[in-house]
Amino acid sequence: MTGHAQKAAPFAANEPRAHWHDQALWFVRLKRDRQAESIPEWEALRETASAIKAHTLSRIADYLEEFERNARANGIQVHWARDGAEHNAIVHRILADRGITRLVKSKSMLTEECHLNPYLEGRGIEVTDTDLGERIVQLRHEPPSHIVLPAIHLKKEDIGELFHKELGTEKNASDPKYLTEAARAHLRQKFLAAQAGLTGVNFAIAETGGFVVCTNEGNADMGTSLPPVHIACMGFEKIVPRAKDLAIFLRLLARSATGQPVTTYTTHFHGPIRGGELHVVIVDNGRSAILGNETFRRSLSCIRCGACMNTCPVFRRSGGYSYGYIVPGPIGSLLAPLRDPSRFASLPFASSLCGSCSDVCPVKIDLHHELYAFRQELVQNKAIPFRKRFAVAVMTYVLARTWAYNLVGKLMRSIVPHLPRALVYGPWNPWGRQRELPPMPRQSFRDLVKEEPK
Ligand code: SF4
Repeated sequence: MTGHAQKAAPFAANEPRAHWHDQALWFVRLKRDRQAESIPEWEALRETASAIKAHTLSRIADYLEEFERNARANGIQVHWARDGAEHNAIVHRILADRGITRLVKSKSMLTEECHLNPYLEGRGIEVTDTDLGERIVQLRHEPPSHIVLPAIHLKKEDIGELFHKELGTEKNASDPKYLTEAARAHLRQKFLAAQAGLTGVNFAIAETGGFVVCTNEGNADMGTSLPPVHIACMGFEKIVPRAKDLAIFLRLLARSATGQPVTTYTTHFHGPIRGGELHVVIVDNGRSAILGNETFRRSLSCIRCGACMNTCPVFRRSGGYSYGYIVPGPIGSLLAPLRDPSRFASLPFASSLCGSCSDVCPVKIDLHHELYAFRQELVQNKAIPFRKRFAVAVMTYVLARTWAYNLVGKLMRSIVPHLPRALVYGPWNPWGRQRELPPMPRQSFRDLVKEEPK
């Protein structure tokens, strides 16, 4: 199983769960709409955010150097990592040099991207994810299925069963309050025992050399104020030029992500705690290559709000794991093939191109246009199967000529009803493999064709 459609098949086959997933995400999308509509200047905020990001990307080296200078002046130790391997080695070295074996982490998609957890665990360091959703998927030995709602694919009954097994809660208990209390007690022990805390970075400010971390559970604050060592990991695109730019991005982020007016905890870090250490690891890991790609550079503007996932009809009905990449949904369908075009060639096709993702994106990334452009690039580079390319070429020819369209229509009406069904639904059908055809009908094709309007 390699393509998106094949990976989505088991999720889509469980119709009640797929429907529930669809509705749960649509609920978040509607909350986002209510918040956006309550702010008259919403579109102006989006425009400004988009312009700030475009400007920052055009001068990113300058802003990163400015951030480094100011961060060092604040007593922050700054490290640079070319790729995931360097990032992991830097984090490990900081921990190993201080004899640290217990680390608490708040949510960081970058560390997922770099596979930090297994790297550290393989070197004898206990890593505890402290965001509730992240902890749930960690206990299940699964990656997150959504960048903001990591366990959205699970129902409370699934979590009750997991907690019964892992945390000793009552059997068949699924009351969210009871389960949250159990998780809280469990995580408190981890916070108290931790020797270091690791966070992501939502925004790093060049002007001040500080950075901001947003959470709804306060876990980043617990994880960075109790242990003496704080490591913050950021992709280099997280930089913004000025402190006042936060006023734009923070208003957009929470509303777009979960439909809240503000994230519950927005913590500003401008230096280590008294007697402690603060490290920032700035990571490239393929971002420079994207920056150099004029067509897809704007994907680096993403502030990881997840709104494009919540609105995407394909994501809602296929689940996050069908993408096979740490960032799923429309933005993941760009980032993944930018990283590895042949492995993720099916992802730009996992979109209806309805444009809903672009409409909700707070930084105005033209996602559906970029997905369409990526499809063209993949076709030109022959990265999609010959069968499909051939079928598209034939269709392009037929649909562009009225006489050919009429002729094929007549032929289809006279031939298809007499074909064996297995032939039509066989694996040689270019859409049969990458896109699921509806189930084979009980009626004969002859009857089906007769039913169509003449
Ligand atoms: S692409 Fe836009 S909508 Fe999607 S996660 Fe990024 S910022 Fe949010």
